[in-house]
Amino acid sequence: MNGNIGSELLVFTDLDGTLLDFSTYSCNAALLSLKRMKECGIPLVINSSKTRAEIETMPSLTSLSGAFIVENGSAIFLDECFPLPHGIETERSGRHRVIMLGRPYEDVLGGLRQARIQCRARLKSFSDMSTEEVSRITGLDLESSLRAKEREYSEPFIFEGDEKELDCLVAQLTERGLSCIEGGRLSYAIGSTDKGRAASMVRELYRAAFPDIRWRTVALGDGPNDAAMLRMADVAVVIRRPDGSFLDYEPEPSQQVIISSKPGPAGWNEEVSRLIDELCIG
Ligand SMILES: [Mg+2]
Repeated sequence: MNGNIGSELLVFTDLDGTLLDFSTYSCNAALLSLKRMKECGIPLVINSSKTRAEIETMPSLTSLSGAFIVENGSAIFLDECFPLPHGIETERSGRHRVIMLGRPYEDVLGGLRQARIQCRARLKSFSDMSTEEVSRITGLDLESSLRAKEREYSEPFIFEGDEKELDCLVAQLTERGLSCIEGGRLSYAIGSTDKGRAASMVRELYRAAFPDIRWRTVALGDGPNDAAMLRMADVAVVIRRPDGSFLDYEPEPSQQVIISSKPGPAGWNEEVSRLIDELCIG
């Protein structure tokens, strides 16, 4: 936000499989572009299915902007010093101000339990799992798995039933004002929000806070839960999966779509670097 040409980029990114390697959860392959973003003052807004507890352990990533989005668009966490326009309701939580777009965890968990009983749906959710089980399913270490279990707005689950059970479950969740989101490894019961809604709101906050800047929005993601975020961006970057496949994404009119040539953070690094080059050359 230093007034140079590069500062017009506003970047939203998924973490798992996108900025973080699908298996190792490392962002090392993207360090060069992250460094360039920092030098150019380009804001990076993390927009993940991860919890606040997980994202807060990544200060080197969250410090690139005054905001991050947790649990698939459920809440926006803003730094205390983020210049908020009047009329935006926030709650204070630690050193953050929070805009909740989803529903409290107890509501989501209660709704999922009822829906599951109603449909006799075979599924296993995080609240049924020990930390060790979460670790086994996600590949996270035990400490990270513990933080992944610190849910505030959504419940991840593994679905083990058939299509009929799933249709029933989705309908029952909808009836309760909830929705079902499909992620890379897991599905999620969540309030009626998504990553696109939360990212659009953050973009509005940036527009209000910096009215003289024309933000060019970039979104990077690899999974079906990223589609809504990719749709709101001027440039949608679909990050390739380790097996070379990529999300079947239907572009919006007048939107630029890039499919990364490399998977995960290596693809992220290459495409972000190219976007910075383009903008700097003008
Ligand atoms: Mg992902």
